[in-house]
Amino acid sequence: MKKFAVIGQPIKHSLSPRIHSEFAKELGIDISYDAIEIAPKDFNSTTKQLLENGYDGLNVTLPLKELAYRLADEVSETGRETGAVNTLWKEKGKILADSTDGKGLLEDLLNNQISLKDSNLVILGAGGAALSILPSILSLHPQKVTILNRTLEKSCALVDKFKDRGVQLQAIPMKEAPEGSLTGVINTTSAEVTGEDLILNVSIFKKADWSYDLSYSKETTSFNQLAKDSGIEVCFDGLGMLVSQAAFSFKIWTGKQPPTNRVLSLIKSFL
Ligand code: NDP
Repeated sequence: MKKFAVIGQPIKHSLSPRIHSEFAKELGIDISYDAIEIAPKDFNSTTKQLLENGYDGLNVTLPLKELAYRLADEVSETGRETGAVNTLWKEKGKILADSTDGKGLLEDLLNNQISLKDSNLVILGAGGAALSILPSILSLHPQKVTILNRTLEKSCALVDKFKDRGVQLQAIPMKEAPEGSLTGVINTTSAEVTGEDLILNVSIFKKADWSYDLSYSKETTSFNQLAKDSGIEVCFDGLGMLVSQAAFSFKIWTGKQPPTNRVLSLIKSFL
């Protein structure tokens, strides 16, 4: 039996154990999947111990993704670009790491027939999640990406980091709106989770075809409600991304890519 876990702090509400157990059932693979709380100060020693004492792979969530990147002996190109990883495993005595968040988002957009090629996108937020999805988004050749963040310096730093990808990138203050019509608005802020108000210029929704909120909840998220109230009809939340990024981790560990549709419907009912 293969043994996996998700590590983070807090961790008890994580959906990962359910998602991975369902993948395993679907593929007829025998696994165990735990949720283990680790404080950042204990991260290095505890994580090494877990990987040395029987765990075949670990998912890493907040606030440990950067620490995991630093712990790993070898990191995928995506992980190196983002400086944070969500998947660890051992191979030939080395700790290997990858980041599957960006791939998870692209897969979910694809499942929803959304194309980013030549699109004009807005990304709200410039934290870890924005950084983890930007390289993947840019790889699909949107025409333009505008990043709006409460702290302008952070969005400017993201623009600077990825300015040579052949895509027009700009950072503007949170309360402004980019010129011209938009394709989609992607929310990567943590406002839904912290319960804070998201102060933004709602005119961006009037210009866009769809919205995507990386956060998710049983009901429509506050961000998607704002988008709907402003006239957007096509709104997605981040549950599909969560399930798809998990599927990519599962494939890294087992060599088998689980189908996600049934698991996504099932996980919705667990919220
Ligand atoms: P960070 O703490 O790194 O970044 C938070 C970002 O949100 C910052 O840009 C911050 O702005 C902004 N922000 C926070 N509160 C507000 C507010 N009230 N108004 C405007 N902006 C605000 O968090 P992460 O980037 O790591 O995670 C963000 C969210 O993404 C989480 O809620 C998480 O659930 C979700 N996520 C979902 C995934 C999925 O699979 N669906 C995967 C990964 C993340 P500032 O810089 O000014 O502080």
